[in-house]
Amino acid sequence: MTFDVRTLWLMGACCGTGFGILVLIVRRAYPAYLGRVLLLWGAANICLGASYLARFERAWAGEFVFNVVSQTLVAACLSIELLAVRVLKRQQVVAPWLMLPPALMFVGSCWFTFAYRNISIQHVIFNFINMTLLILMAGSLLKAEEGRRPFADVVTAIAYSVLALSTSAVIVDYFRSSGFTPEYNFNSSRSIFNNVAGIVTEGIVFPLFLMMVSERLNRTLEVQAMRDALTGLFNRRAFDEIAFREISGASRNRQAISVIMLDIDHFKQVNDEFGHAAGDAVLCAAAATLRRSLRDEDFLCRWGGDEFCALLPRARGDQAESAVRRILMAIEELQFAVDGKIIPIQLSAGIMTDEGEGLDFGFLVRLADDAMYRAKKTGRNRFAVSLADHPDPAPTSQV
Ligand code: GH3
Ligand code: MG
Repeated sequence: MTFDVRTLWLMGACCGTGFGILVLIVRRAYPAYLGRVLLLWGAANICLGASYLARFERAWAGEFVFNVVSQTLVAACLSIELLAVRVLKRQQVVAPWLMLPPALMFVGSCWFTFAYRNISIQHVIFNFINMTLLILMAGSLLKAEEGRRPFADVVTAIAYSVLALSTSAVIVDYFRSSGFTPEYNFNSSRSIFNNVAGIVTEGIVFPLFLMMVSERLNRTLEVQAMRDALTGLFNRRAFDEIAFREISGASRNRQAISVIMLDIDHFKQVNDEFGHAAGDAVLCAAAATLRRSLRDEDFLCRWGGDEFCALLPRARGDQAESAVRRILMAIEELQFAVDGKIIPIQLSAGIMTDEGEGLDFGFLVRLADDAMYRAKKTGRNRFAVSLADHPDPAPTSQV
């Protein structure tokens, strides 16, 4: 069976444009960040489809469209795909640099088509630029993000690497064969193979890219289901599950685990004096300070309103007390300013420690909460330890 390269170009034009339009339609169903990624990717596919179309009828289109426009569009397609990958992976993007490959391709194509005609040299430049962009894309996809390397990213990186390898073989071929003939036979087996490789890779990458986007969508929904929207800390639902797992683990290993309830003092005044937006900003700053003051293995949740709950696995009572001292100091040192005026922030805390008895989480929280209210009653900006371990009804420790 023989293949006419024009059949492949027609297939490429239909696939690229079809995929691109489909992506532009479905992107509306995705949240803003992923919608942006899909917009870029759809545009890249349409560029690719248009590049094949530009090749389709050489006699009718003329040399400028056939040689210059089509190759510039391929470089533009790969540059936009690289941009889409970087935005998807939340990597740094220097967008102006991505204009360079299509610009170089345009100048190179014009030069070797009209000024110093040599289509073979033009093809080497074309393949070199494409290979570089494919390698950059594979590299970006293989970089871990938030400690994860999703499966679809790895498979897509492999697909791009294989295409880069096939492209590099074209370049090597030119240098090994005796020379750069002024014209190029687009129906040569190498050209046919390269076109097939390009179309097959784009066909494979299309569902993979949608998988990568879906993976991010699932991840976003998972995070939204587990996190408090304002502070980014765990919400109650997620925290209940974590606490159940950690407390049963602690009880099995006969290890201590501490619960700390924390509530900002006179927070209503912040809202009343500075407005709700300033109140929100204080909550975020307090949440970030609490998170910084705890160990990496501790868990922190926004319990509700201006109240937070921390779970400290393997922390005995004295260790929980030093953690709370650290927190109170860090919160007091927080220089939070609105309109140049420092808002003083303080909080009160209550501690309850389970010394590996496997107590119910609700019970631990209730006792830590009781202790926290005792700290409030006895002056605020201090902590108290639960009376369950300490028979003395007065707050056991104060700062
Ligand atoms: P206390 O020292 O006794 O804790 O006094 P307080 O003023 O902090 O009283 P309380 O803890 O009961 O007040 C919590 C306030 O937090 C009430 C509510 O208006 C406010 N609040 C709850 N959720 C939010 C929120 O998401 N943003 C803002 N800005 N305020 C909130
Ligand atoms: Mg409060």
